[in-house]
Amino acid sequence: MAQDSPPTVQNQTLLLPCHECDLVSEVTVRESSQWLQCPRCQHPLMRPADSDQLTPALASTALVLLALSLLFPYLGFEKGGLERTMTLTDAAYELAVYHHPFLAVMVIATIVVIPALYLISVCWIHVSLAGPRLLPGSLLLARWLPRLQPWMMADVFAIAALVSLVKIIAMAHIQLQSAFWTFTGYALLLLVTVTRMNTIGLWQRLLGNLQQPAGARSGLTALEQNLTGCPWCGQLQPPGGHHCRRCGSHLHERNPFSLQRVWALLITAILCCIPAHLFPIMITTSLGKTEPSTIIAGVMLFIRHGDWPIALVIFTASVLVPFGKILALGWLCAATRQHQSLDMDSQMKLYRITEWIGRWSMIDVFVVAITVALFQLGNILTVEPGVGGVAFSAVVIFTMLAAHQFDPRLIWDRQRGSTASPHPPLESSP
Ligand SMILES: [Zn+2]
Ligand SMILES: [Zn+2]
Repeated sequence: MAQDSPPTVQNQTLLLPCHECDLVSEVTVRESSQWLQCPRCQHPLMRPADSDQLTPALASTALVLLALSLLFPYLGFEKGGLERTMTLTDAAYELAVYHHPFLAVMVIATIVVIPALYLISVCWIHVSLAGPRLLPGSLLLARWLPRLQPWMMADVFAIAALVSLVKIIAMAHIQLQSAFWTFTGYALLLLVTVTRMNTIGLWQRLLGNLQQPAGARSGLTALEQNLTGCPWCGQLQPPGGHHCRRCGSHLHERNPFSLQRVWALLITAILCCIPAHLFPIMITTSLGKTEPSTIIAGVMLFIRHGDWPIALVIFTASVLVPFGKILALGWLCAATRQHQSLDMDSQMKLYRITEWIGRWSMIDVFVVAITVALFQLGNILTVEPGVGGVAFSAVVIFTMLAAHQFDPRLIWDRQRGSTASPHPPLESSP
């Protein structure tokens, strides 16, 4: 480790507010690189680190793999003497050609542009941390990192490619091209980079130690002490300001109109469900015969062909998850109005699953993008995207926005009694 690295974080005692339940806990860092969890809701609070060279190394390798994935063909197939290969940009280009620019932007933004911005930001911030002073824009990028994270879907696209393979393997001879492997590596490294990133730990390294407001103590929520905890950098501060005095992020005691926004987004998502399931997601033209296919028809086709596992994946991602998510968020909103003590563990599990699972619904949209990009064989076989795909993407976006608008601290606010007994100080040693 470098001799001139910042002062060690070990043996520090910090007061940290939990982003999900608002409880302030006393944290003693005995060993860096160990995740510290909230004692009440088990939300991972921070992973202290003196320095981190692995994360930027992973991020820069992922960027190189992404660049290679864009340069070379992704999938190829041969059918009746006709050969065709597709690149990742072909998937977006073909969607745009068929007057679905929204789908094209959605695909290229979630699998290339947003992850690339994220990885470049990670590298920039770590280069900045290694130097004598911070590089321009480092703090702005650190503010944006956690906001970009939910919209990166390279791993979902990699799984969608596997589903597409099962779908088209019966129709043509498929070749996995070089970009298929580099993209899979990139998706994997992106996932590892994201799991290593920790907002509070990063702000600690960028701006130094948290300041502890006078009179703040553990075992009570920030709200009960008339304080607000910054969800991004963990700074406790008096309420009133619209921006965190430490990291400059937007700050609210509780997200304003959280429940109203969630309901509005859920109702919009329910309305979008109607065209998403009524209109075709894909239109296949083979030898002059046109066959539109809705989401449910696609699932039924897999069942008829005996591909039960794939039918189950598509049914779960496209039907169960969006509807389940709408019901779960509706129920959580209703739970914030309940006065009696509810099973908080189950509610937090439901909230976390709902927040995590949403982007996996994009599998079917990515399968359409890959199939459309591959099958452009004129009269022999042409696949076009349908308007159902646009509506379905809207369902995914609105349910994801609804999950992000929901403030989980609201369900804990009804459980004031549960903070009566102070929690013991939390230590990071195993
Ligand atoms: Zn908590
Ligand atoms: Zn802050």
